[in-house]
Amino acid sequence: MAKILVVEDNALNIKLFCDLLNAHGHETEPVTDSRDALEAAKNFGPDLVITDIQLPHVTGLELMAMLRADEQLKNVPIMAVTAYSAQGDDERIRAAGASAYVSKPISVVRFAETVEQLLEAARVWDEALAPDPGAWPGVG
Ligand code: MN
Repeated sequence: MAKILVVEDNALNIKLFCDLLNAHGHETEPVTDSRDALEAAKNFGPDLVITDIQLPHVTGLELMAMLRADEQLKNVPIMAVTAYSAQGDDERIRAAGASAYVSKPISVVRFAETVEQLLEAARVWDEALAPDPGAWPGVG
């Protein structure tokens, strides 16, 4: 069981993501307004953050930068979800702090697998080996 913060402005998607994660035994904290996400993350203390990239107000890229700049949250793995996957996006999303990303429409299997891979990688994460969050051993 892991605590997973899910940031997504689309009501159907966030329900889908949370139902899927709950079915895998995880505890979820849904956030539909990204302006609330940093505060919610501080209060919830997630093991993993899943964030949409295309968000009104605070974008997914901006949110990731805020998480990576936060002393308490800087090493929490982040899985980005994006509707567009243009050339160069992979680099841009990873540079912003994502440990992995999946494209919409999501494959339920790939979504769940990536979550479990990130949680497993975080379990064996040794900060001493890679103190730079940018060097986080992402997957996917
Ligand atoms: Mn969106």
